[in-house]
Amino acid sequence: MAVQTKTITGDAAGPNLLITGGVHGDEFEPMVALRQLAELLDPSALRGSLTVAPVVNEPAFIRGERCAEDGLDLARTCPGSPDGTVTERIAHELSGVIRGADFYIDLHTGGNIMDVWPLTGYKLVDDPEVLEQQRRMARAFNLPLVWGTDAKLEGRTLSIARDAKIPAIYAEYLGSGRCSPEGVQAYLDGCLNVMAELGMIDRELPPSRIVHEVEDHREGAGHMQVRNLSPMTGFFEAAVELGGRVESGEPLGVISDPLGARRETVLASESGVVIVLRTFSRVIEGESLAVVLDLI
Ligand SMILES: [Zn+2]
Repeated sequence: MAVQTKTITGDAAGPNLLITGGVHGDEFEPMVALRQLAELLDPSALRGSLTVAPVVNEPAFIRGERCAEDGLDLARTCPGSPDGTVTERIAHELSGVIRGADFYIDLHTGGNIMDVWPLTGYKLVDDPEVLEQQRRMARAFNLPLVWGTDAKLEGRTLSIARDAKIPAIYAEYLGSGRCSPEGVQAYLDGCLNVMAELGMIDRELPPSRIVHEVEDHREGAGHMQVRNLSPMTGFFEAAVELGGRVESGEPLGVISDPLGARRETVLASESGVVIVLRTFSRVIEGESLAVVLDLI
C-alpha cells in the first residue's frame, strides 16, 4: 500500500510544504483542490517545494467511506505499523511522509454524514515558535473560524507533526458527501495563501474572512465525535442550522423510530454556535449529532 504523492520543486530554495487530503475516504473537496493545486503551480515562480497527497487513504476512497475495510480511523491510528492492517500500514507510511516536511496542512470535510462550519485548526503545542507559526498559517488560510485545541490528542496526523516539531494546521469545509465548487476554491485559495505567508510564492493576500479566533485549552477540545450523542437509533431531524446560535437546553433536533412510537428530543449541552451538524438522517445510538462551540 503506497500513499501516492506528487512533489513540485521550485527553481529557488525554500521550505518543503506537505498538504494531504483524503485521510478519510469520503472527503472530496480536498482531493480535487490538491490535484488542481499541483497542476497550476509554476516551478519557476516557486521557492522551495510542495508535496501533495490528494487521496491518502485510497482503500477508504474506493469504498466511498471514512475508513478502509478494517474499520480503523486513519486519523486515530498514526503512527501505525509497517506490518499491521491496511489502515495501520497507511498510517505508518503517512507518518514518515509528514516527518519529512518543514510545514504541514491536512485538509478534511465532514465526510458523508456531517457538515462542518469552515474552520482552520491547530494544536496548542508547548513549543512557542511552532505554535506561533501555526497561528500564522491558520490565519493565512483564511476560513471563518480559527481554532486552537488540546495538543494531547493522539493518533492524528497532527500528533505526528507535533512530536516532530513541524508547524501544522488542519482545515474543515462542510461535507455531506458532496464536492462543492466553493469548497474546492476555498481550499485552493487557502493553500496558496499559506504558501504566500511562508514566502514560497508571490501572491497578494485577500481581505480577512476570519470571524472568530478561539484557543481552547480544555482537555479533549477539538475531539468532535464526543458531543451531543444520540440517545437512540432512528431518524434525526435537526432543529438548528450550521453556523446558527443555540442556547444550552434548547433542542438540537428530534430522533424518532419509524412510526414515532419512541421520540427523543436532544437538547444542546452547551451554548454557542453550531460548528458541526449531522446531515445524514439515519443515526445509530451513541453517534454525535452536533458540536456547539462557545463563541460570542
Ligand atoms: Zn476527515
